[in-house]
Amino acid sequence: MAILRPSVVSPTRPTVKTEAVYARGMESIVLFGPPGAGKGTQAQRIMDSTGLPQVSTGDMLRAAVSAGTPTGIEAKKYMDAGQLVPDQVIIDLIKDRIKEPDAKKGVMFDGFPRTVPQAEALADITTVSHVISIEVPDERIVDRICGRYTCAVCGAVYHDSFKPTSKDGTCDSCGGNEFKRRADDNAETVMSRLEAYHNQTSPLADWYDSKGIFHVINGDRAINLITNDILDALK
Ligand code: AMP
Repeated sequence: MAILRPSVVSPTRPTVKTEAVYARGMESIVLFGPPGAGKGTQAQRIMDSTGLPQVSTGDMLRAAVSAGTPTGIEAKKYMDAGQLVPDQVIIDLIKDRIKEPDAKKGVMFDGFPRTVPQAEALADITTVSHVISIEVPDERIVDRICGRYTCAVCGAVYHDSFKPTSKDGTCDSCGGNEFKRRADDNAETVMSRLEAYHNQTSPLADWYDSKGIFHVINGDRAINLITNDILDALK
């Protein structure tokens, strides 16, 4: 699927770097929305259509925590508290990730950017063609997050009530039998994560909307309907 739109960059930034970006032909998509909106689920569903790899800063941080790297050790205290990890940590992670060969044509960001400084850094790194905002009311988020689990093998996302595996204990996607739940997917942390979203992340909506690349999708519906609307927005 061609995802070609006029490229938009931060008006507050010099154009030198972004011209280089145009020359490389990179165009990325941002999946935006509160925690538990279904960004990861939808990223997996649209990856083939977009041809862009999913880049989830949350997944990258969790991998760093598991590996016990200095970044992981630094990030863990913020993640456990449901707070945002400092911008420079995130921006450095993204700058490294974007150098990977699979990111040549752009990527599909999931959970990034989450602050104005991150969005500004992103404008220097790649052109954003679409920001897909998956919107779910706060009162639905706690239930959605607290029942969530993923396949430990392929990362497919499930939910105790809303999307259980078809066969008990077996992943529908890869047949794996091991599943995991995130340490921060609990009722206490989710309130802090929502607060961080409203205070630090949601202001980006106006910024992207003013550029004409912001697409609002109702995320409180059947997964298929949401996927269809996202693919329509990307046409
Ligand atoms: P997520 O998997 O996107 O829900 O992220 C889980 C946690 O990782 C968040 O609650 C933050 O602590 C941290 N995190 C992920 N992405 C970012 C980001 N772009 N900026 C700051 N913190 C982040």
